[in-house]
Amino acid sequence: MALAVADSLLSGRNLAIEAPTGVGKSFAYLVPAILFSRLARRPAVISTETINLQEQLIRKDLPLLRQLLDLDFRAALAKGRGNYLCRRRLALAAGEHRDHYLPHPALAGEIDQIGRWAERSGDGDCDEADFHIGGDSWSYVCCEAGNCSFPKCNYRRECFYRRAREEWERADVIVANHALFFTDLKMQIESDSRDGGLLPLYGAAVIDEAHTLEDSAADHLGLYLTYGGFNAFLNRLYNPDSARGLLLRKGGDVLELRAMTAELKAAGKHFFAQFEDYLDRADESIRAVDQPGGFPNTLNERLLAFRARLGDYVQEQEDPDYKSELEAQLLRCDGYIDGIAAFIDMTLPESVYWVERDSRQLILQAAPLNVAEILRRELFGRDFPVVTTSATLTVDRQFRYFAERTGFGGGSEVRLDSPFDPDQVQLHLARSMPDPALPEYEEALFRALEHYLELSDGKAFVLFTSYALLRRAADALEAFLGARGIRLLIQGNELSRSAMLREFKADIRSVIFGTDSFWTGVDVPGEALSNVIITKLPFAVPSHPLIAARCDRIKALGGNPFFDYSLPEAVLKFRQGAGRLIRSRSDSGMIVVLDSRIVAKRYGRMFLHSLPDYPRTIA
Ligand code: SF4
Repeated sequence: MALAVADSLLSGRNLAIEAPTGVGKSFAYLVPAILFSRLARRPAVISTETINLQEQLIRKDLPLLRQLLDLDFRAALAKGRGNYLCRRRLALAAGEHRDHYLPHPALAGEIDQIGRWAERSGDGDCDEADFHIGGDSWSYVCCEAGNCSFPKCNYRRECFYRRAREEWERADVIVANHALFFTDLKMQIESDSRDGGLLPLYGAAVIDEAHTLEDSAADHLGLYLTYGGFNAFLNRLYNPDSARGLLLRKGGDVLELRAMTAELKAAGKHFFAQFEDYLDRADESIRAVDQPGGFPNTLNERLLAFRARLGDYVQEQEDPDYKSELEAQLLRCDGYIDGIAAFIDMTLPESVYWVERDSRQLILQAAPLNVAEILRRELFGRDFPVVTTSATLTVDRQFRYFAERTGFGGGSEVRLDSPFDPDQVQLHLARSMPDPALPEYEEALFRALEHYLELSDGKAFVLFTSYALLRRAADALEAFLGARGIRLLIQGNELSRSAMLREFKADIRSVIFGTDSFWTGVDVPGEALSNVIITKLPFAVPSHPLIAARCDRIKALGGNPFFDYSLPEAVLKFRQGAGRLIRSRSDSGMIVVLDSRIVAKRYGRMFLHSLPDYPRTIA
């Protein structure tokens, strides 16, 4: 793998490389990336989906390489601006005018705690704080776009964010996450300039965990507006309930602006309520929007008038700190004006629009439908090499699907075999199970779970595709497992995902019943995980507007949405789920598939052919 990566970097050609667990993937791209960046005199960016992998690279792999290689190199962890403490804003929030600045008196205590931490923090990164920082208080002291008075800032010499950026500039290897990487790419696209982003001009990009590439890019290249965010923006200016905010000053201008803020708040409530109604009418929590102008834009006229008035007021201000705070709000106001207009009139190029209500708030969202076209032009078609890698890029041992969905091209594809012995796994395929669409499937599933959990004496992940079925299975098996002294950990109960994993590793016979987030990114080496049970083949229900639109597009182009999208997506997720079992050469265990379609349907072959050649039992 290291040679393939080195060849790609030196030749300037892109590379897609599938590297199963155990290959030593991170070392195999880090070493060539370090050597290349020193040759090219430009950093290489490594982008990962998860914080876990970012931390592993920065804390373990890169320090180990520094020890092992007789090579002096610099590595830096890059995070979004909002992760860093802004000392100037902290001084404001902790200073004598804090009553104007903070929307609630209750935040003052938290701000003081952040102030004490700032004295001992080396990097001002909120993830590194030794106490929990509330998002509300952090938003008043973190670095913000449009709210930096550099180079005039009095704190510029000790600025955490500036220091971090200088580190990025000097680094040979920058470790970022996909969120930052794609935000940077979006800024480059919008400014039509390679150095118009957040990251320094890099000479190569390595995208790890690239199986999420299409969705990560769609998430960050689109539009995301929330009612909560809109209210927070207004509260920052003036919160009538607590009588606090930036506009709590003397003068006729601010009185007028405060009145306008209160009116905007009421108008915002009215504007977002129409989307609540839209969801309620269909009794849905997510719903596509497909008519430009289908909702009246009752907000933008007021926002534009407010923006003009606020802009005049900002011009008159002499206090640079106060002015900077207000300028950041002007920028946010512009973001809402443009974002709301783009959403209502559906003006983003070839995008999908939807309304969603999650457990916390109402969201208006849009994402590009054809990510492949954007990435082909803006990422894979650039003048630097891009290496994409993951343990699961291929479907049916081919890269065709990955290339179609992400626009990958202009280079080579390499598929590495697993370094583990296939005999470490016994694959059980339950042919006798009823089809999952039949009513008798559920009862048969519960009996099969009893059988296979007894066989492995617990020590299992049971992976579900629906939370409702997970709950019913948990109810059905709780007594059975309890009688055998096997602890059942149920996703969605009181424990968080990471707490569940801790308990699972500590109690070696315990069993986890999990949905989505347990199919990927979970690493449990050793005996505690000896059995992975897949209850159903993980076909996504195309109820999400983005997935439905992708399927419609495939159909319109003459393709078959099931074979060209749903099936390969399910195969990739199936591979991720099955891949939880073997994390090292000393691991062993069984993978049980309780969905008979894997042997009864012709397409089942694609799932099986995507796995290593494990010994099989078909019963
Ligand atoms: S330079 Fe900018 S980010 Fe840094 S402390 Fe000053 S205002 Fe904050």
